[in-house]
Amino acid sequence: MSRSASSRANRRGEPPPSPEPLPSPALDSHTHLDIVLGERPAGDEHGKWASDDDVDAEIAAAVAVNVTRLVQVGVDVPSSRWSAALAARHPNILAAVALHPNEAGDGKADGQWLDTALAEIDRLAAQPRVRAVGETGLDRYRTGPEGWPAQEASFRAHIDIAKRHGVALVIHDREAHKEILRVLDDEGAPEHTVFHCFSGDADFARACVERGFVLSFAGTLTFGNAGSLREAAALTPVGQLLVETDSPFLTPMPYRGRPNASRLVPLTVRALAEITQTELIPLCESLTATAERVFGTWEM
Ligand SMILES: [Zn+2]
Repeated sequence: MSRSASSRANRRGEPPPSPEPLPSPALDSHTHLDIVLGERPAGDEHGKWASDDDVDAEIAAAVAVNVTRLVQVGVDVPSSRWSAALAARHPNILAAVALHPNEAGDGKADGQWLDTALAEIDRLAAQPRVRAVGETGLDRYRTGPEGWPAQEASFRAHIDIAKRHGVALVIHDREAHKEILRVLDDEGAPEHTVFHCFSGDADFARACVERGFVLSFAGTLTFGNAGSLREAAALTPVGQLLVETDSPFLTPMPYRGRPNASRLVPLTVRALAEITQTELIPLCESLTATAERVFGTWEM
């Protein structure tokens, strides 16, 4: 294949090769193993689902680079059911279940639809390997003002579900930092609250740290223009840090633009070690301890 043909194939297709394994076990606090990038079949809102064989191979590839603990995250009722079922059958997986804020705020969420969907999330949250409610929160980028009241009502309901089941809350925050703190302060945050793909600056990181929240950093940390994000990570106590892929999205450098996978977490962990000036092994140990404090043990 010519060089241009191969780089074209890379952009569209295969996830990049696995990096060097980590010297101590670490984790991916937020992945979507069900989602296959590409065109969605007509009438299927989820798109193409990953096959069991592909999912098992992807988990094995993550374990091979010492990414041994994964949290599989649902974004609607079908993917939350799928996440709970995967966690029930796979020792390396715990699940998070929720309606994504864009799902809750997209207009079809009249009161009755939302109530029925939330009842199913509540039911799934009772399963023993479902250890978080999320991703929930507010998205003021993709949802317009007409969807904000439904989105906030859904967020408040998810906070209540997490507290009643004694599980962690996983927050999706897109251009809604202040609004999210307002709702969390008003409702009272669950004991363990994680900002997935933390996207704030140093001031917002301080506001989260002082409330005891956990900041999970994704591959965006490695992007050239992410100076303020690196500043936020640097001031966060190591015991309040987590790491994630949000795969198949947000692929770390040098592979930005290609599909992400949990086995690429070592790229972000190494960046985090440099930014926080922490040795790699103690950092991995701290990330694992934090994940087990927040989500409970994987019992592998
Ligand atoms: Zn996500």
